[in-house]
Amino acid sequence: MAGKTVGVLALQGDYERHLRALESAGAHPVEVRTAAELAAVDALVLPGGESTTMLKLLHREGLFEPLAAFGQQKPIFGTCAGAILLATTVTSPEQESLGLVDIAVQRNAYGRQLDSRVVTLPSALGDLEAVFIRAPIIRAVGPAVNVLATYNDDPVLVEQGRHLVATFHPELTVDPRVHAYFLTKL
Ligand code: GLN
Repeated sequence: MAGKTVGVLALQGDYERHLRALESAGAHPVEVRTAAELAAVDALVLPGGESTTMLKLLHREGLFEPLAAFGQQKPIFGTCAGAILLATTVTSPEQESLGLVDIAVQRNAYGRQLDSRVVTLPSALGDLEAVFIRAPIIRAVGPAVNVLATYNDDPVLVEQGRHLVATFHPELTVDPRVHAYFLTKL
């Protein structure tokens, strides 16, 4: 990781918490809002927020195609809305996505009652406190996807090669292990 720069997409959503979490994990992250800023980083975090809004802003800033190309070469970590942007298939409703991680996600899938909750999850990284906020459910994973944690038998933390996806919000807890794990992919 030495000498490498991690960016956080800072168009919308809870990107500031990701900057803090990456600092706790030992990185010196920068905010990314333009194609030039994207070109200057070695890895990128897509934060939680509202994926439809983020998608519109990505197009408005001319970042959608550069981001898809970036993901062919460099690691991306998507949380919640970021996970939705990385998926190959998005439902409820259908939505365009980058298609960089071979997962099918259903948006807002826990419904109103489970709008938001905190659970303790066993994972390949040890027990994690996981905060779910209007989270998507990963309904299917392709053969190249490795599942690192499940909740109610659904995958919630997965990786595919250089990319990492969480349907929960590791940036909202003080535990830096998920971000530290992402940094091992640099
Ligand atoms: N429900 C949001 C979406 O569909 C994601 C929620 C989140 O990122 N916390 O984009």
